[in-house]
Amino acid sequence: MAIPDIRDVPVAGKRVLVRVDFNVPMQAGKIRDDTRIRAALPTIKDLVDRGAAVILMSHLGRPKSGPDPEFSLARVAERLQQLLGQDVQLAADVVGQAAQAAAKALQPGHVLMLENVRFEPGEEKNNPALARDLASLAGIYVNDAFGAAHRAHASTAGIADYLPSYAGQLMMTEIEALGRLLDGPGRPFVAILGGAKVSDKIAVISHLIERVDALLLGGGMANTFLLATGVEIGQSLAEEDFVAEARQILIRARATGVEIGLPVDVVVSVSLDEPALTTRVDDVDPSEAIYDIGPGTVAGYSEIIAKSKTLFWNGPMGVFERPAFAAGTLGVARAVAESNAYSVVGGGDSVAAIVQSGLAGEISHISTGGGASLEFIEGKELPGIAALAGERKLR
Ligand code: ADP
Ligand code: MG
Repeated sequence: MAIPDIRDVPVAGKRVLVRVDFNVPMQAGKIRDDTRIRAALPTIKDLVDRGAAVILMSHLGRPKSGPDPEFSLARVAERLQQLLGQDVQLAADVVGQAAQAAAKALQPGHVLMLENVRFEPGEEKNNPALARDLASLAGIYVNDAFGAAHRAHASTAGIADYLPSYAGQLMMTEIEALGRLLDGPGRPFVAILGGAKVSDKIAVISHLIERVDALLLGGGMANTFLLATGVEIGQSLAEEDFVAEARQILIRARATGVEIGLPVDVVVSVSLDEPALTTRVDDVDPSEAIYDIGPGTVAGYSEIIAKSKTLFWNGPMGVFERPAFAAGTLGVARAVAESNAYSVVGGGDSVAAIVQSGLAGEISHISTGGGASLEFIEGKELPGIAALAGERKLR
């Protein structure tokens, strides 16, 4: 699947509409983390430097119906202006008169941002009329919003029916990095999966089990697998409805020779606020819950990680937000950072954990897409990528 790259196209004097993922976490009207804005800078700077008039569009949060100041991109436009070191004009609407006039007047080398695309009800419905209105603002469309590529929305997919469409640099980097995991990865290929819910991860596990040499499990998700092996897990988070599926995956792994890592020791407590205790996994009291993997498990996983050539990690090994239950996640982060493998970390909380550990610089690729990177690894076609690939007749 060849993806056309905007770097190959002359853009001087042209209006280029770029879908970015500026859906940053906000707290009390402030940007809590601007990683997503920084990630789009290479594409924006390149277009500006090459003399394009750059129009940006993004969603932010989930506005319920129409324009809502709480979900305005004003703060994001301000931050982008600081990071770029040049003016960023914010249009008062998405495709209304204000946006149209501003787009028309936009000079080469200048940057305009549309208001939150989700202020338009047609966005999430992938409404063709909205896609056409968006397209009318520019002559070229660029999608650099990998984090929104798993959604078939007007600004991520529909618009490609109306304009010549290309991938931005972040999109290209993500596709190459994640693609490397699915396409002839160096072996052994080891996946480390954790996080809260097995129901969120079962699809990715089912897909990976056919591709990896070892699958190391941790976090709340591992509890359902422990249940499937008949271990007492007390008050631990688990999903009874997925025990049968977990058992099938274990059987499949045995049949195909895939090594499965399950915790041999765990950190338990009667509640998150009570003292933590490390115990053997077959010694969990019915009154306790498992909140982290233990040091023995970290040591075992670290050995497997050290021998790997390709690593994919999604989902913390425990409730890493609490220092008492963060050692498992930190230990695995250290092992991944120390390995010489090609390593990819994806998922909102997993990335937060790796950043918190100060080891982000030792990872080959940190994916900016949470849901999008998981769906990519599941082998699904992402609508935002499919819309860029292949021949299409413009409407
Ligand atoms: P990601 O965002 O990286 O995909 P998830 O959202 O699936 O990861 O999981 C992250 C959450 O899982 C964290 O908030 C963490 O506290 C929680 N978690 C991890 N281990 C456990 C556990 N043993 N019990 C309860 N929650 C857990
Ligand atoms: Mg999460």
